[in-house]
Amino acid sequence: MYDIIIIGGGVAGCAAARELSRYKANICLVEKEEDVCAGTSKANSAIAHAGYDAEPGSLMAKLNVQGNQMMDAVAGELDFPFERIGSMVVCIHEEDIYKLEELLERGKKNGVKDLRIVDAKEAHELEPNLTEQVVAALYAPTGGIVCPFGMTIAFAENAAVNGVEFKLNTEVENIQKIDGGYVLTTNQGILETKVVVNAAGVYADRFHNMVSEEKIHITPRRGDYCLLDKTAGNHVSHTIFPLPDQFGKGVLVTPTVHGNLLVGPTAIDIEDKEATATTREGLDFLTGKAGEAVADLPMRQVITSFAGLRAHEDHHEFIIGEVKDAKGFVDVAGIESPGLTSAPAIGVMVADIVSGMMGLAENPDFIGTRRGILNPSELSKEERAKLIEVKPEYGNIICRCEMITEGEILDAIHRPVGARSLDGVKRRTRAGMGRCQAGFCSPRTMEILARELHVSMADITKSGGDSKLIVGTVKDRL
Ligand SMILES: Cc1cc2nc3c(=O)[nH]c(=O)nc-3n(C[C@H](O)[C@H](O)[C@H](O)COP(=O)(O)OP(=O)(O)OC[C@H]3O[C@@H](n4cnc5c(N)ncnc54)[C@H](O)[C@@H]3O)c2cc1C
Repeated sequence: MYDIIIIGGGVAGCAAARELSRYKANICLVEKEEDVCAGTSKANSAIAHAGYDAEPGSLMAKLNVQGNQMMDAVAGELDFPFERIGSMVVCIHEEDIYKLEELLERGKKNGVKDLRIVDAKEAHELEPNLTEQVVAALYAPTGGIVCPFGMTIAFAENAAVNGVEFKLNTEVENIQKIDGGYVLTTNQGILETKVVVNAAGVYADRFHNMVSEEKIHITPRRGDYCLLDKTAGNHVSHTIFPLPDQFGKGVLVTPTVHGNLLVGPTAIDIEDKEATATTREGLDFLTGKAGEAVADLPMRQVITSFAGLRAHEDHHEFIIGEVKDAKGFVDVAGIESPGLTSAPAIGVMVADIVSGMMGLAENPDFIGTRRGILNPSELSKEERAKLIEVKPEYGNIICRCEMITEGEILDAIHRPVGARSLDGVKRRTRAGMGRCQAGFCSPRTMEILARELHVSMADITKSGGDSKLIVGTVKDRL
């Protein structure tokens, strides 16, 4: 019997796993996909929100501000990309300026530092590509951008190094209460545990409702995006939001930590918890909306589109804590935006709750730091030449758009909770994330995966399950 099973390898589950690994306990994280960061945590705006949106006094507001404040330290300890570039909420109608003032007040109540309203002149000085329509803006210097894959995978790797077991391709189908714990029926067999942490994203209501009479309901709220090439990455230097509406923070324009430009998201309530396909209407809507705040958006530079699903709980609040009528069952539910920003604080909160409930002792062997994948392009010419001398695979470029080497891909495969699919390699190294969107490097990455995992190329998938790319090689058929 495990002490703790965490359901879900998104940013919330992985942050909880990392923080719980500070304690002595037998912990397992189960994830239905072939990798961590395969749900909502892989498809979002990647903003470290400053914290002026959420309702003062709400858990969402508290964890947003805490998470934002923790981000520099956590990104330093776990070596993932984070930049505090600042954000602006722009207003295009004089009569709406009072809405900026309301946001400013809310931000102050939530404890957001250095927030202020800037007039049209200063707004355009800060961000020359704002449209002439912009009359004022709320400027939040503490807003930032983060790599959502980098953060989630860093939490997972650090948790694994500290003893957390990761069971991937393991889908929880049912949960039953037993004396002193729970039995989880999965597609890989039965698992028993004293405590369950339910971090299943858009499916968290399903598991909560299996054990509790007080039902919750989560609506998947789809957000479509366009990602623009790095040639467009400098079009703005802050995250630019419109004024928020009843569906959320609106269509933003932002640079990413990797130098691309991101435009999105939409906010469309749907029923299907797996429906992450984009639609033409959604993408057309983005282009029109984003153009109100930012002039001359180079939309011809779009290299891909994608969508993510917000886990919108009916009361628009994070639900974190032991379920009243289900002892030992801890919800981490309704983690919609700003869930990514809040993740470091969510991890600590969950670990406090669970360690308190179980009376866990500290793990004296806990290792708090982790190094990310070595990026040779960050080295000097001399350092790179030395590296290639010792490890020639760092001289073999596999992804020409992002200049990713075989050495980086090997590292991605062989580290804890390593990559097992093309998308797994992509999220860890960026191989396939560039302008050609894996057109050239896929076969070469597949060859490396097959060789290193001792399987046939035909067994390599894009993203696990039945997403195989080839049925075999011509050579095998001769
Ligand atoms: C459009 C959009 C924009 C956003 N922008 C931002 C932003 O800019 N800043 C910000 O702070 N937040 C943002 N968010 C919110 C943020 O992305 C989420 O709050 C966060 O990723 C949620 O993480 P999670 O771990 O709860 O869920 P997920 O990442 O979805 O993880 C849940 C995991 O549970 C697994 N799972 C589900 N069912 C089972 C099962 N039966 N068995 C085993 N495993 C299972 C899933 O496969 C998944 O991997 C945005 C969200 C969206 C959709």
